[in-house]
Amino acid sequence: MGCHRKKPLSPIVGLCQECLSELEREVLNGFFQSKQLPVTALFEYCGLAKQLVRQAKFKNCLVSASVIGAVTVAVCEGKLGQPNGLQPFELQQRGHSVVTAKTLLVPVPCSLKSMKQRGWDLVVRMTYSMEKSLAVATAPFIIRNKKGKNKAQQKQLNREQRLKSAVNRFALSKDQTDFQDKKILLVDDVMTTGATLEACGNLLQEKGVTQGVEALVFCCD
Ligand SMILES: [Zn+2]
Repeated sequence: MGCHRKKPLSPIVGLCQECLSELEREVLNGFFQSKQLPVTALFEYCGLAKQLVRQAKFKNCLVSASVIGAVTVAVCEGKLGQPNGLQPFELQQRGHSVVTAKTLLVPVPCSLKSMKQRGWDLVVRMTYSMEKSLAVATAPFIIRNKKGKNKAQQKQLNREQRLKSAVNRFALSKDQTDFQDKKILLVDDVMTTGATLEACGNLLQEKGVTQGVEALVFCCD
């Protein structure tokens, strides 16, 4: 990350110690029940977390993308923020972590337009870091629809319209990964209304996922 402070580097690649402490203070570790699924948000969409996302998405900064991946892993492992790692909404009492050996990560894919512009997907990079460091599997169950493009700006839509437009934007892949006994964790970078996660959750139900689906987002706006 280009903070240009001449400070020693933290164990999280690309972040100096000072930036790391700043992020540490910002860890939200918040859970809330969206309409249908429990969502764990690591940060609010502000401060350094927001800066990292913006650098990755709009400045095409791969270093920021790897920092986001590394920070996500660190929070999940309890190395940043809460010492016990993430305690998800549902499993809090039982002391489980949001990511367990049974977790199957399902990335929410970015738009085809962003994919074309950047050539890479921030969320896929996040799940890749998690897969590597947390020894969990990833399954690309959800893909972007080429059809059903909705030209209306998300901001102009009401909740119901947003959900409908989100449903049209995604489809199920033909991925045959076995999800029996797996706990699906949808992963996204920024959540605004939750319509996207909801739509993806619905799609997974169509695929026969009956166990509860949870979501993990880097930031909530
Ligand atoms: Zn720094």
